[in-house]
Amino acid sequence: MINKFDLEKIGEEMYELIRELYPINRSITGDGVRKTLKILQKKIELKIHEVPSGTKVFDWTIPQEWNINDAYILNSKNEKIVDFQKSNLHVLQYSIPIKTRIKLDELKNHIYTLPKQPKNIPYITSFYSKNWGFCMSHNEFLKLKDDEYFVYIDSKLTDGSLTYGEYLIKGKTDEEVLISTYVCHPSLCNDNLSGPVLATILAKYLSKHDIYYSIRFLFIPETVGAITWLSINEDKIKNIAHGLVATCLGDSGISTYKKSRDGNNIIDKIVEEVLIESGEPYKILDFWPSGSDERQYCSPAFNLPIGSLMRTPYDMFNEYHTSADNLDFVRKDCLSNSFSKYLSVIHKLEKNHDNFKRKKSVLENKETSKDDPVFINLFPKCEPQLGKRSVYENIGGQKDQEQLKKKKGIQWILNFSDGKHSLRDIEKKSKLDYDLLLSMADLLNEKKLLSEI
Ligand code: ZN
Repeated sequence: MINKFDLEKIGEEMYELIRELYPINRSITGDGVRKTLKILQKKIELKIHEVPSGTKVFDWTIPQEWNINDAYILNSKNEKIVDFQKSNLHVLQYSIPIKTRIKLDELKNHIYTLPKQPKNIPYITSFYSKNWGFCMSHNEFLKLKDDEYFVYIDSKLTDGSLTYGEYLIKGKTDEEVLISTYVCHPSLCNDNLSGPVLATILAKYLSKHDIYYSIRFLFIPETVGAITWLSINEDKIKNIAHGLVATCLGDSGISTYKKSRDGNNIIDKIVEEVLIESGEPYKILDFWPSGSDERQYCSPAFNLPIGSLMRTPYDMFNEYHTSADNLDFVRKDCLSNSFSKYLSVIHKLEKNHDNFKRKKSVLENKETSKDDPVFINLFPKCEPQLGKRSVYENIGGQKDQEQLKKKKGIQWILNFSDGKHSLRDIEKKSKLDYDLLLSMADLLNEKKLLSEI
């Protein structure tokens, strides 16, 4: 086990790495990801992969590469009222280039704010629909006068590639532990930088030790990166014996474990043991089909034994996806505490490997009835791309509560329509209204994403 003094040094090292990576403008593609991975290469011999734009990965296509030099809004007095150089969160990610004069009324259609957190700049993306926009604090937004503005976004969308990093520590066996983290958020510390930093320092630490399992570390853009890796590495999936998605590891909240989809894998038991033995408060949550890349690893066709060990989960802290998730929000002692828990999980897996038997899920034959239909997801490998099928247009464009519920319903149905969970089972798991689930199942049926058995 690691001593207190070494753990303190690890906390310092993790925090310093976050500080170095924080200013970089990352996205799901582009030079920010490359720059980030190059910095991580100073710690571990990370292999960098480039997958060309346009490559089909399951139901998705790798988008064009996005890069940006500068962006701002000037008022009629030539004063910069929004400046990308001050915060990269000011630009809607994947904004197309724009250079035009515009009236306030029209400008308002391209501005995103958080009225409930008026001091903070939101982090907003538009990866798959062409748009441009700026994000700003609601307080600054309220100061905008009826004026003519000059908006400028010097960005480029080109056929390039999606970049990801991979580092494999060869153990005594080909059986693998997968530690997956993402590297696609701009200046955001807890969600996102705490994950890649923990993975890097853990990889550096473990690379100096003899281990039984091979440990694969992935540094990918969230969602499309996980889909890409699974799509081009289908032959490696069978080796994955256990895994964790590393995210949100530096805040002062208690440790939270989101179980794997089946919920009874060895990784689930081992993480629980580590949390109990820590003597600190913790929370264990059953799998739910939104969140981070466990959505892809635990999609019905793969159903991998992968959970997610974090502190406060993504959308459960106020600072999430805002400028308040900054260098003050993450703490050295919390980072090192998360590190020691990950290390304990690996140690316990090592001890446990003799008992290792990969659980094969057994399909129960469900009686089907008209009142309780059972569906099969026709795109069980990762998630189907809903945007290109206009699924969201069919459930309303506003981000209101009703639309969020429908979106959740769609995620639950797609993840659990594996032929062994009926719609009533999904109702029980999701705690969503049955009629809502039924109407979403009808919609997915119509879009040829589901079929009834
Ligand atoms: Zn995020």
